[in-house]
Amino acid sequence: MVNNCANPKCGKPLHYLREGRIFVFDLPNQISAVGGKKTRRIEHFWLCGECSRTMEMQQSKDRVHVFLRQKTRVGVQMRAAEHQSFAS
Ligand SMILES: [Zn+2]
Repeated sequence: MVNNCANPKCGKPLHYLREGRIFVFDLPNQISAVGGKKTRRIEHFWLCGECSRTMEMQQSKDRVHVFLRQKTRVGVQMRAAEHQSFAS
């Protein structure tokens, strides 16, 4: 299970699950030397309350990345709100 915030620059220890966000990824495993079979593993990641406000996690191929949320989406929402108040 998860012990720390997935943001490597933060690493805050996990005490309360209600704080922050849990991400679940289905990651392909390395081919095991023993059976030669390709298996998958479910990995859990946690971003603490502070990091989940500004960051997100995404899976690409066989890795999981922590990245800053796009600020453009916020900008679009703001413009839409301005337009609404202007129209009314
Ligand atoms: Zn954090």
